[in-house]
Amino acid sequence: MNLLDLSLNELYDYAVKLNLPRFRGKQIFDALYMAKSLEEASNLSKEIKEKIKEDYPTWKIVKILESDDGTKKMALSLSDGSVVESVLLKYKYGYTVCVSTQVGCRMGCKFCASTIGGLKRNLSAGEILLQVLIYNRILGGNLKDRKVTNVVLMGCGEPLDNYENVAKFLQLISSESGLNISQRNISLSTCGIVKNIYRLADDGFNVTLTISLHAPTDEIRKKIMPTANSFSIEEILKACDYYFSKTGRRVVFEYALIDGVNSTAGDMHTLAKVLYGRSCHVNLIPLNSVEEQKLEGVPRKRAYYLCEVLNKDGISATVRRTMGEDIEGACGQLRNKIGGGA
Ligand code: SAH
Repeated sequence: MNLLDLSLNELYDYAVKLNLPRFRGKQIFDALYMAKSLEEASNLSKEIKEKIKEDYPTWKIVKILESDDGTKKMALSLSDGSVVESVLLKYKYGYTVCVSTQVGCRMGCKFCASTIGGLKRNLSAGEILLQVLIYNRILGGNLKDRKVTNVVLMGCGEPLDNYENVAKFLQLISSESGLNISQRNISLSTCGIVKNIYRLADDGFNVTLTISLHAPTDEIRKKIMPTANSFSIEEILKACDYYFSKTGRRVVFEYALIDGVNSTAGDMHTLAKVLYGRSCHVNLIPLNSVEEQKLEGVPRKRAYYLCEVLNKDGISATVRRTMGEDIEGACGQLRNKIGGGA
């Protein structure tokens, strides 16, 4: 049991179950959402603290690294000692937190650091939320004046391989009583677990769906992403069309440019054909280096050229700005290394 997994209403019920007045639930909620430890929660009496101490989450910030561009990467140790990484990115319009959804990952993508040690466990909704709340606190924000404006589920782990917890997290973070971050400001990135894309749409979510595509054909995709053996590009795109029809939200495709694998002009033409006619956007990312992986990215100049090829074929595309690479905080570089783990 982790009290951060509960909504405000559930915390009211929790208080009542402990024979406390209902409104104590809100006090517990306030302490949690300020990312206060139980000791720091000065709004709670000693007696209440005693009653809830088994259920109140504990954590430790192991390390925070800061990049030259202002990006921060935090290693957070959870109650069982698992370490997760999350990133804070500063943009003109506000702050984005990139959260991890699992400890490790079992998707096995050949270019990604997060999967190297396999999957350790799923994170609970509250453990995902905690990553955002801590950054909000660091930035001097609170529930009324929140500093974190956007969230991306693009850290360690595959969000759609941890569906229930991620769904609960999305409800908590977008709830009016909580940080109230609109789903329009949340991006969920997936390597394409088809049945859960349908589920996300059917459950009424309308976050920005981001697909890690990385290849124009199944043949190339299978070389770098084991999940391509289970889901074809065609099936994934069909699920994306369904998501679009339900939500009206343009789908984003991520495409890491890997030298000698997926980054010729011909690959871009094929990609354009595959995506043509859809309301979508392609994010090209020159592969970020990961020590253990043999694959290389392409120079940025080449990425801009390939982007132009896509644009000329009628596809909306941009080259993603890389942030936090010097602290291994960029796409695909998260793991639990700075915490001294795997
Ligand atoms: N499992 C989810 C969430 C991870 S998001 C997913 O696959 O989408 C992280 C994004 O960074 C994904 O698009 C992932 O494919 C991409 N990525 C992974 N390794 C990378 C690397 N070395 N360079 C650039 N992007 C990478």
